[in-house]
Amino acid sequence: QNSIKKPNYFPPKQQQQQHQYGKNVMKKNTIEQDRKALPVYNCRQRILKEVEANDTLLIMGETGSGKTTQIPQFLLQAGYATNGIIGITQPRRVAAITIAKRVAQELSCNVGDTVGYTVRFEDTTTERTRIRYLTDGILLREAIRDRLLRRYSAIMLDEAHERTVNADVLFGIVKEAQQERRKHKMAKLKLIITSATMDIDHFGQYFKVKGMYLEGRTHPVRVMHAKESQDDYIHAALVTLFDIHRHEPINHDVLIFLTGQEEIEALAQQIRQLARINNSGPSDVRVFTLYAQLAQGKQLECFLPVPANTRKIVLATNIAETSITIPGIRCVIDCGYVKEKSFNPSTGLDTLKTVRISQAQAWQRSGRAGRDAPGKCYRTYTKSNMEKFRSAAQPEILRANLTSTVLQLLALGIDCASFDFIDPPHPEGVQSAYKALEQLGAVKAAATPPAITSTGRLMAQFPLDPRFAKLLLAAPSFGCMEEMLSLVAALSSDNVFIGHTDKSELAALAHAKFQSKHGDHLTLLNVFATFQKTDKPKVWCHDNFLNIRNLNYARNVRNQLVEICNRIGLASNSCGDNLDAVKKCLLTGLFDNMATLQKEGHYLTLSGRVKAKIHPSSVLHGKYKPQCILFSEMVQTEHNFLRQVTEISVEWIEEVLPNMKFNIK
Ligand code: ADP
Ligand code: MG
Repeated sequence: QNSIKKPNYFPPKQQQQQHQYGKNVMKKNTIEQDRKALPVYNCRQRILKEVEANDTLLIMGETGSGKTTQIPQFLLQAGYATNGIIGITQPRRVAAITIAKRVAQELSCNVGDTVGYTVRFEDTTTERTRIRYLTDGILLREAIRDRLLRRYSAIMLDEAHERTVNADVLFGIVKEAQQERRKHKMAKLKLIITSATMDIDHFGQYFKVKGMYLEGRTHPVRVMHAKESQDDYIHAALVTLFDIHRHEPINHDVLIFLTGQEEIEALAQQIRQLARINNSGPSDVRVFTLYAQLAQGKQLECFLPVPANTRKIVLATNIAETSITIPGIRCVIDCGYVKEKSFNPSTGLDTLKTVRISQAQAWQRSGRAGRDAPGKCYRTYTKSNMEKFRSAAQPEILRANLTSTVLQLLALGIDCASFDFIDPPHPEGVQSAYKALEQLGAVKAAATPPAITSTGRLMAQFPLDPRFAKLLLAAPSFGCMEEMLSLVAALSSDNVFIGHTDKSELAALAHAKFQSKHGDHLTLLNVFATFQKTDKPKVWCHDNFLNIRNLNYARNVRNQLVEICNRIGLASNSCGDNLDAVKKCLLTGLFDNMATLQKEGHYLTLSGRVKAKIHPSSVLHGKYKPQCILFSEMVQTEHNFLRQVTEISVEWIEEVLPNMKFNIK
């Protein structure tokens, strides 16, 4: 295409702060040599001395300096894991898994021996495990069973700057566990809080300790901004990439920051095709993708070295900002956007929205180019664009849906209003969570503080969003327990459909077999039920363009949900072909996600009166439009799209939800 406008970049004016360090450690070193070359290695004694002297320690250090992989090993060698284990929390499961694998390699052991990981629905740890990487959500659930966190002798709350809701709550919980253990003269709980960029004063005041800086090892990064604002940042990234490819040495690997899976896969495809057409030889670029939903094996691929005379190109979400360090990157292309989940208390809806990154994130991203040697960063936005970015991202607790957190705190016997938060959530957010929990039957909001009900306690047993836990608790009375278990399990997994771009017609044809006229939920149930019955899952998934890993994952989730249901004594039953039972049951949890068709052809949500359309990925898209629908989530791009949609009948609303008032028009 000739109409393509190539972004021009200003010559670099700014340079990042530089600390020059010796040799490039990338080349053919042994793992042991690599470890010793990490900046954190020289600080080993200092860190251990501080840990010995203080129960709580804040450590701030450059990304890639070795905090996450090395500090737990220092603690292990210094004997901190003899009377308990060392737990390290991560905001993302990918990070917990890849890091545990890396550390196992460094310790020459298998995952599950000295080092292991625990993420939702997957626990690889054994009684031999001393270092345990886990998501912050998992540690929070453990706290419900044991508020003193007795199995741990040390906890490292890593990536603290990410300020996930779970991490914010854990700050308070762990702090309290330390105090309680001290009061009862129990074994000490050491706490280390680590982060790449962190507001040390804010954290320091909250934990009443001073911070420790680790000298980083970064090389200068030349930062370039687009001269003009770009309408299409994906396209700008593509053009910039090929410019780099023509002019930069072949062994300079490129990292491109984008916002999400679909965009990343589409661009990866395009780059691979263009690389072939350009005759640059199929072997001289290797494209990797990295995002949270990617299958585990694939996530590890970008860490592996590529052949000589080959350029590694990694397309990643903000996951590569701080959680994961990919060796070899010398150029970064930053699109300046990130996908952020936020909750609107007035509409009661969670939305996934593409928003501008913060200035702190922009600097963090550019820093990824200077890990191994001097690098370059191309920003597809202008300098004046960037001046309008927020200086730092807002803590998630100030924008997230708090329903799940408030329920977990109640199960811990904690009232949000009096909890010692580092930054307390907005009262409206907490109120709206109490309201949602009351509608789910999990709390009695009339009491102050609101009291958790027996249903609420049961809901807190499930590692699920309270709305999905409610679906399982309600299912026996609708006679559809088996079906609901399958559906909730399948919904917990990532997309099971593979939409091969080259063969999309074949894929569509294969997927059509499972289509239910009722909508996406029952279509998904069809897929999963057939998968459960097939005796050749591999061949079957391949032939039907289905993702076997995600289906296996769903099967695993289902087994674990069955265990919990058995433990709490939920009766099992099945509705057979009477699928209305499943659809009605869905209303008990997803009542905030209903919408009705308007004369103008769009939908309006019942609780928040938000205008929206059915997402193109839905089986109901482009078909006749049902009068009333239920959806799994709303995605906000240039329009509001409703994802995973099922037709429901207006009469059911009164039947299933007699105590709720809806404005059905
Ligand atoms: P930090 O937590 O300070 O950001 P890490 O401990 O995560 O640093 O990483 C230290 C170094 O270990 C990184 O620079 C990276 O090169 C290397 N590393 C980490 N994970 C892997 C992995 N899965 N494969 C190969 N190298 C890795
Ligand atoms: Mg780290």
